[in-house]
Amino acid sequence: MAEPVPAGSDVSAGTYVCTNCGYELGVQSSESIPPCPECSNGAWRTASGGDAADDPYPGR
Ligand SMILES: [Zn+2]
Repeated sequence: MAEPVPAGSDVSAGTYVCTNCGYELGVQSSESIPPCPECSNGAWRTASGGDAADDPYPGR
């Protein structure tokens, strides 16, 4: 998964941080990540979980 993660990407459960305002978004399961609810920014950084540390699907 590329960093930052663009809004609309299918992401794994984890915590994502808005690259613009720092809003933390918790994603419970695999779903499309929305734009930031605080500032409508469309880029996320993986804080925990997701595909960052233990990537079960390398190369995706
Ligand atoms: Zn934001």
